[in-house]
Amino acid sequence: MNEQDRAQRAEVAREAASDLIARKTTRAWAPAERYDQEGAPHPQDARGLARRSVDRLGGDGYTVRASFEIEWAVSIGEGDDFTPACAGPAYGMTRLTERADYLRDVVNALAATGIEVDQIHPEYAAGQYEISVAAADPVVAADNAVLVRETIRAVSRHHDLRASFSPKVTADGVGNGMHVHFSLWRDGRNQMAGGDGPYGLGPAGEAFAAGVLAHLPGLLAIGAPSVASYLRLVPSHWAGAFACWGLENREAALRFVTGAAGSHSGAANFEVKSFDGAANPYLTVAGLLAAGSAGLAEDAVLPKPVDVDPATLATDSGIAPLPATLEEAMAALEADKVLTEAFGEALIDSIGAVRRGEIAALGGCSPEEIAARLRWKY
Ligand code: GLU
Ligand code: MG
Repeated sequence: MNEQDRAQRAEVAREAASDLIARKTTRAWAPAERYDQEGAPHPQDARGLARRSVDRLGGDGYTVRASFEIEWAVSIGEGDDFTPACAGPAYGMTRLTERADYLRDVVNALAATGIEVDQIHPEYAAGQYEISVAAADPVVAADNAVLVRETIRAVSRHHDLRASFSPKVTADGVGNGMHVHFSLWRDGRNQMAGGDGPYGLGPAGEAFAAGVLAHLPGLLAIGAPSVASYLRLVPSHWAGAFACWGLENREAALRFVTGAAGSHSGAANFEVKSFDGAANPYLTVAGLLAAGSAGLAEDAVLPKPVDVDPATLATDSGIAPLPATLEEAMAALEADKVLTEAFGEALIDSIGAVRRGEIAALGGCSPEEIAARLRWKY
């Protein structure tokens, strides 16, 4: 962004802030970390865990830039049923026009918080929109994900709308993802561009991504942590249900994005498609960094890229489906030495207790009941 753009954004943010203050809709927030009474880091503090993972990688000379892409579905009124707030077709201009006032307030409120919105667009599912914000340090990216969601929730209420970030708002169709984009940097250079590897990947960028791919089954218990996550995470629904990677492949769990011609050195990144909005973003980045660092330590290499929907490949293709239930994902997490060590026993125990509690609470429910019961929890 050049100086003029920056000044223009600052002006928009100032105007948005004074507008919000005039309408008495301001809030303040301060993301913080937990310590025990002796002043030691709390073993279950997600933000501290994420920050320590960033620091550790920094000690090895690497930085990660990350961003959460947030999809949400908007319903009319206060009721618990889901009534889509727009009728226009998927990806259509009509949807933007129908809810222009609402979306303008979302963008303005975010401008007032200082978050750079890269894109806001109408998504595929009924009443669904998506917002992308600028990449940042992973802890800041997780802070931004929380702030974006709470801002969307508050603005929605102001418009007599209800926002759901639940992985599956209704049992049928496509769900809400919370995809995470990440790139690895060293000495100011993106390790995912300008290298000799596939599509220009550098060896460190490839090793980091290979680590993430290898640990995806266990990572799902973090990034796709709800029973509803597995209603969403099904083949051919753009959710990334197979452990593979590919260039711009929206069905691969890891989608490689090079960015537009001329911008690769800044833009090239991987997108984890399999994660959703039930996830705690701090735990998510901590898990990704642990997995990526393990890949770096092993000089891991990626398998062959996949450029079709993996669901169309023969079962002996060697492309494994990811865990299909929360039970399977939790078992994969508990069996994953890298992730359990990074998170520590106390945190893994709590995560297991919460996941198993949700599984038990929803035992015997139909997909429709699960979607309805979790719709407004996220
Ligand atoms: N809504 C899809 C999901 O559940 C993703 C659509 C897309 O952005 O490719 O993740
Ligand atoms: Mg999307």
